Amino acid sequence: MASQLDTDIQFLPGVGPKRAALLRSELEVSTVGELIRIYPFRYVDRTAIHAIADIVPDMAYVQILARVVSVSLYAGSGQAIDPGAPGKVPIKRMVVLVRDASGQIELAFFKGIRWMQTRLRPGSVFLFYGKPSAFNGRLQMVHPEVDDPAPDQKGPGEGAGTLTGVYPSTEKLKTSGITEKVMGRLMGAALNLALTDVRETLPDYVMKEKGLVPLRWALRNIHFPTDQNALSKATYRLKFEELFFLQLSLLKQKYVRSRAEQGIPMPKVGPAFNACYNSLPYELTGAQKRVLREIRADLMSGRQMNRLLQGDVGSGKTMVAVLSALVSIGNGYQACLMAPTEVLANQHYANILKYLAPTGVKAVLLTGSTGAKARREIHAGLEDGSIGLIIGTHALIEDTVVFRNLGLAIIDEQHRFGVDQRARLWNKTTCGAPPHVLVMTATPIPRTLAMTLYGDLDVSVIDEMPPGRKPVQTILAGEGKRFQLHKFMKDQIALGRQVFVVYPLIFESEKVDYQNLEKGYEEIVEAFPFPPYKVAIVHGRQSAEEKDFNMQAFAAGRAHILVSTTVIEVGVDVPNASVMVIESAERFGLSQLHQLRGRVGRGSEKSYCVLMRGEKVSKESMKRLELMCSTEDGFVLAEEDMKMRGPGDIEGTQQSGLPISLNIASLARDGILLSDARAYAEHILDKDPSLEAKENALLAAELRKDRYFRQDYSKIS
Ligand code: ADP
Ligand code: MG
Repeated sequence: MASQLDTDIQFLPGVGPKRAALLRSELEVSTVGELIRIYPFRYVDRTAIHAIADIVPDMAYVQILARVVSVSLYAGSGQAIDPGAPGKVPIKRMVVLVRDASGQIELAFFKGIRWMQTRLRPGSVFLFYGKPSAFNGRLQMVHPEVDDPAPDQKGPGEGAGTLTGVYPSTEKLKTSGITEKVMGRLMGAALNLALTDVRETLPDYVMKEKGLVPLRWALRNIHFPTDQNALSKATYRLKFEELFFLQLSLLKQKYVRSRAEQGIPMPKVGPAFNACYNSLPYELTGAQKRVLREIRADLMSGRQMNRLLQGDVGSGKTMVAVLSALVSIGNGYQACLMAPTEVLANQHYANILKYLAPTGVKAVLLTGSTGAKARREIHAGLEDGSIGLIIGTHALIEDTVVFRNLGLAIIDEQHRFGVDQRARLWNKTTCGAPPHVLVMTATPIPRTLAMTLYGDLDVSVIDEMPPGRKPVQTILAGEGKRFQLHKFMKDQIALGRQVFVVYPLIFESEKVDYQNLEKGYEEIVEAFPFPPYKVAIVHGRQSAEEKDFNMQAFAAGRAHILVSTTVIEVGVDVPNASVMVIESAERFGLSQLHQLRGRVGRGSEKSYCVLMRGEKVSKESMKRLELMCSTEDGFVLAEEDMKMRGPGDIEGTQQSGLPISLNIASLARDGILLSDARAYAEHILDKDPSLEAKENALLAAELRKDRYFRQDYSKIS
């Protein structure tokens, strides 16, 4: 028999084709089954009624039970209109004075006045729900929700009402009559029709072990909770389920792969590693040593390594990459290091050559600018195995590049690469087994997010900076300080330093942003005339050659100031740059600001980051900017960013995207539950990796649903 969950919403009482179309376009629901998965985003607590006397302006939403004392109408001019005899002047504002036993408060309405006026007759009693604010020194609520009190409704603190869900809605829905209250009614009808057709998704033993309520019960109570306790249980069940299946699907892929993929065994460290290690000019940090041990264990295991290496800018990832490559080479296999830009590939190559000097390993550089002859030699050297390590850009994944025996592929700044680009690396080896994979990223990703985005990768973190790094002094300044800023830049340049100036560039406002960039560039050129000053500019509308040329000019010290959009964000090392000026800093995310700031403070000189803020900056943005000034810990900033802006905005996650969209759980707020769900998913997979056991049939069935199939971007072999 067909399930009522598949019933089109237009057949629900009071919907019809027109409203159904609206619900489809506004909320993306077309069936009853989809509708009941739209949960309230908050609940009006009918059990909590505030006394008006206790209300202060900056409280969150409150509910009062109050009697209407008087209604006043005003015209646009502010002139009062007689409510009994409204003339031709349009009414712009209605102020309703209400009172309870403790005091009185004004309610203001700017819309739907005519209707409200007929409803709110002096003497009648209502429940008002809204956010208190202060206006002209008086307490008020603007556009509170208005409800009739329940028959047995009591005064403050005595009510025995219920929690009522408030559903996400849009202006369009509201104006077409699908108000929050109508949504509630629709939910009621949908549940009556289809709740009995909802199938449990979790096995009995899971519900028992984790203390979860059944799905039907949870759905009924998420919409119509009988009390706070029922709501908590329903919420917990639904959140757990969501996070659990997310983790289960990710981990299952990992289990399947780690059992299936044979990796190249690399049992020894080898002489090249030792030669390099023993001549390092510094001691590795504890974190670098730990991560190297983790990588070594993977390489020895006989299974393929798929590891993400996270480490803040400047934490010393390159050294770890080099030593890992040398392990591969020491075991008789080649290694490659792929960087997102030519400048970065050049920089890596120059650095790495120094480290390789004592090892006798041959390393080459392959980029778009490599000439045809050199290219042919490289191809030959890769095929005959005389080249141990190749460093390069996308040029590495061209079809003509073939390795004799690639053992380790290292990818720097992973989020700049597309999925398929990475996937193409593994078909390049003739030695049979897929290479081990190490992905390096400088974007600190909060643990909860990493567990989700890279649920099927192993994660290593370098959480310690090499000693001797000087803190970057961060200064927040407004437009009034512009002159002083220029003077400061000149002083720094006189000391032989260089300056970055970065402008925001956001897709939605691209045109205006480019105008600002150009204007800013012109201002700088004017304030820093040639001679003696040289100013370079880099942005996304330039050709790759132009970009590289300007970038190189700055990197080589031929320009004093580099004006740019965020293209400089990734890895470029200009140790001589000591000042980072970020324009309209409030428009950047914290993680992004942090990345930018990481571009300075790489040399031995004291460095500065100047956050120039715009004219109108919200309180929230000020808080973020102040936090930037107070910490240099990338993980702290990333966590905070995620809390404030949600995980979708974290730099580096946009392209990969969340594997499934979360409906009720939040990566920012439900970290503990996520860890618990993940541990439990692991526990189940440990015993039954492919979910074949009879008791896990429900789990296997759930994972076969469409939403768990996604592009498996992190499966890189
Ligand atoms: P990342 O790639 O993580 O941003 P790098 O590998 O470029 O960082 O290292 C940043 C700088 O720190 C480099 O100049 C490097 O030589 C230096 N460095 C790396 N490891 C150490 C260490 N253990 N002690 C001192 N300096 C180090
Ligand atoms: Mg780096």
